[in-house]
Amino acid sequence: MKCPGCGFPESKVTDSRPCMEGNSIRRRRECMSCGRRFTTFEMVEAMQIVVVKKNGTKELFDRSKLLGGILKATQKRPVNAEQIVNEVESDLQNSLHPEVTSTEIGSMVMDKLKVLDDVAYVRFASVYREFRDLDSFLKELQELKGTENQ
Ligand SMILES: [Zn+2]
Repeated sequence: MKCPGCGFPESKVTDSRPCMEGNSIRRRRECMSCGRRFTTFEMVEAMQIVVVKKNGTKELFDRSKLLGGILKATQKRPVNAEQIVNEVESDLQNSLHPEVTSTEIGSMVMDKLKVLDDVAYVRFASVYREFRDLDSFLKELQELKGTENQ
């Protein structure tokens, strides 16, 4: 970080404090050449995540859209939908793949719901997997029961 006074590239940090829910950090710096003090802000750069839909079209990851889908599935269930969206979003950010398919996002949510609440899981799965018939729906239920008995 160049000194705004003399342009010297080295400065030492005299104080750091996080602000805005930890998404940025404010640092007090002191130029190691002229001793001038200045403040810098560092922001965490959030990557834009592109979602590839089933029909091949792409759109930016939309938090509120995903939240809406999960809220529908978790209605009156003891599941924190917001928390799931946060986890999925940070998993996506951490994976460092700028593109993800809507199916992958769907399975990420299902994996989380499976652990949390069976009813919400089945509701969400029925929308995401688009069960074509009763058989595939029952098969999913059977698999769910199977994993519980293990
Ligand atoms: Zn300086």
